[in-house]
Order: sequence, then C-alpha cells, then structure tokens
Amino acid sequence: MKLAERISRIKPSPTLAITAKANALRAEGHDVIGFGAGEPDFDTPANIKKAAIKAIEAGFTKYTPVGGTDELKDAIIGKLERENHLSYRRSEIVVSCGAKHTLYNLAQVIFEEGDEVVIPAPYWVSYIDIVALSGAKPVVIETSQREGFKLQAQQLAKAINGRTKAFIINSPSNPAGISYSRQELEPLATVLVEKDLLVISDDIYEKIIYDGEEFCSLATLQTEIKKKLIVVNGLSKAYAMTGWRIGYAAGPEEIVAAVTKLQSQSTSNPTSIAQKAAVEALNGPQESVVAMVEEFKKRRNVIVAALNEIPGVKCMLPQGAFYVFPDFSAFYGRSYAGKVVTNSTELTAYLLEVAKIAVVPGVEFGQDNHLRLSYATSLENIEKGVARIKDAVMKLS
Ligand code: PMP
Ligand code: GLU
Repeated sequence: MKLAERISRIKPSPTLAITAKANALRAEGHDVIGFGAGEPDFDTPANIKKAAIKAIEAGFTKYTPVGGTDELKDAIIGKLERENHLSYRRSEIVVSCGAKHTLYNLAQVIFEEGDEVVIPAPYWVSYIDIVALSGAKPVVIETSQREGFKLQAQQLAKAINGRTKAFIINSPSNPAGISYSRQELEPLATVLVEKDLLVISDDIYEKIIYDGEEFCSLATLQTEIKKKLIVVNGLSKAYAMTGWRIGYAAGPEEIVAAVTKLQSQSTSNPTSIAQKAAVEALNGPQESVVAMVEEFKKRRNVIVAALNEIPGVKCMLPQGAFYVFPDFSAFYGRSYAGKVVTNSTELTAYLLEVAKIAVVPGVEFGQDNHLRLSYATSLENIEKGVARIKDAVMKLS
C-alpha cells in the first residue's frame, strides 16, 4: 500500500522502542535491567490518584472544553505565576495529551516547508521528527561534553539565517541533564530577541534539579522575548504521571488559539479525569516532588561514580533530569566473538545481547560517542546494571 510521504519522514520513537524491547525480553524470562525508559519509577502520589477517583465518582467523565477546563488553566496560571514569575491569561494557555502532543501541535501550527528550526545537540529524540513531520528542516548545532554540552551565543547566531523560524531549548535537558543558569541564558536571549525568533522552551524537567541549582525560564529574561516564546511543560516527570497524558503550552494568544483549533479537529480535549488529577498535582501538596528529587539525586551520584570507574568512560555530573549521557567511544573499534562494535547503536545491541542491559544509543540524540542511561530505577538495579556494563565492555578487545 502507498502511504502518505510525510510518514516516511519519521522513525518510531527509539526511547519507547528500547523500553518495549526490554519488556519483551523480560516477558521471555530474561533478567533485563532497563536504563532505557525516560519515566519516573515512582507511583503517582496518592492525593493525585484520589482526585481522579473522585472525578470518576462525581461523573466528571464527559468532554471538556477542547483546550482544557478553566479550573486546570487557572491552576497552570497560578503555577506559572508562583513558581516562574510569569503571568498569563486563560486565552494564552492550552492543555494537550502530554508535552509531546503539545510540541507536535505547536510544530503543526507554526512550521512549514522552507522553515528552519534550530535545535542544540544532544537533543531529545522527538524534536527532530516532530519538526520534520511539519515540513520544516531541523538545523542541529553540536555542543560537546568538554563545554558542558552548553550552547554558546555565537554558535546560535551563526546558525540563524533568513529561513530560521524558531529555536528549541530544553533545560534541564534530556539526555545530558544540563541546566542553563540565568547568566548563561542572557546572551542566548539577546541573540533570540535581536533575530526576532520564535522560541519553544521545553521546561518539563524544571523541578528535577540538583545541588541548589535554580531553574531559570528563558521567558523571564527580557520582556521582548516573552512575546515570541512558548513555554511547554507537563506533569509526566515531576508528578510521576507519564500515563495520564497531560501537557500544556503557555504563550502568544494567536498560537494558543491555533493549537486549540487543531486539537478541536484531532484529539478534542485531554482526558477529563486526568485534568482533575492535574489540578490536584499543581495545587496540592508538593512534598512528594521533593522526595522524588532527593531519591533521584542519590541515584545520580551512584551512577555517575560507577560509570566513571569503568576505564575509558567519561561521564559528566548532570545538574538536572534523570539521565546520564556518558562517552563510551573508547570502546568503538573493539570486538567480541569476531564482531566489531563501531558505534553507539552497535554497542547498545551488544549490551542488550551480552549483558541484558537496555540503554539508548547516543546517535538518537545527535551524538554517536555517547549512550543515554535513565537512572529512574532502583539503586540496586543501578549498582548491578553498571557492574554488568563494565564486565561486558571489558570483554571487548
Ligand atoms: N520533552 C522532553 C525533553 C521529554 O524528555 C519528554 C519525555 N517524554 C517530553 C517532552 C514529553 O513528555 P510527555 O509527553 O510525557 O508529557
Ligand atoms: N521522554 C522520555 C524519554 O526520552 C519518554 C519516552 C518518550 O516519550 O520518548 O525516554
């Protein structure tokens, strides 16, 4: 059958594919340790689940307004005001079925053939495909571990031309866990305002940040920038709500109205019950978030130390999110049982086959020298898993 050309522009999400593969091997009885999934291993906090149960019992099970209920929009407005010192009106907020859906909607209403969208690497896998599906061209700027994976203003300025429509930033980031400080964002903001670009700021890991580092939203830096900036956020990561599918955008009314129109002809509203749960997540007690971040921090310290003990591996200490992005390129060119491992995809396949360890190849995030490991798993799994990785890579000669 001949499918539409647009679907051939994208590949299945590799992060989700690795997780599915690890689960399938587990179902066959293999003892697989998964560092693939980018989702908190904690349960959704009880107060949030109770709010959803109450919503079902009260019959809150019908369509809601397409872009989300006023109650949820107000909870989002309250959160942005309280935590980020950003003020928005209801007409500047739209709720979608997860932040991935929010990003997809934005790309569909903003980008088209002939546009370029600047994305620093390493990037979250789906940015490239979401942009490609819209017809626009993703323009990737390399950053290196040596420079802490941070984009410099001159690099950004150099990548911008007459076709450049937008810039996507993600801090704290997936996969490197970097977090831009206010000072580091200032020069980027100056370039963005000067070049009059649209900015998508994916703040989904905002609350998962360590060592007293403070989250800074690009939107707060200069009044000019906010006029052309869309904040993207969601509840999946901070509240362990990946399955509930609630994400949102806050930004210029014209863009929000266009996203709402697109949603009215595609998904309609996000699940009514999940919206009630989201209101509780944003307005209710926040202790569970603090506890999760504490636990992630312990795991981060253990996994970074263990990885750096493998001779040849270089792993930076991330300041946020729950991923590490170590350089494993020292093992490329080595072989085991007659098979040479030459890149991150082959090393990932080797680790799954020989060590029963699931990781995501760095090439999917734009950097082939690296692997991505999510440490949203128990300390026991981290210790056992990294020991297995070490054994496996030391067998390569
Ligand atoms: N942005 C980034 C950087 C992510 O890692 C994810 C992970 N899924 C998302 C957006 C989308 O999250 P969700 O659709 O679950 O809200
Ligand atoms: N964002 C997560 C990850 O990078 C979840 C999977 C996905 O949505 O792609 O692993």
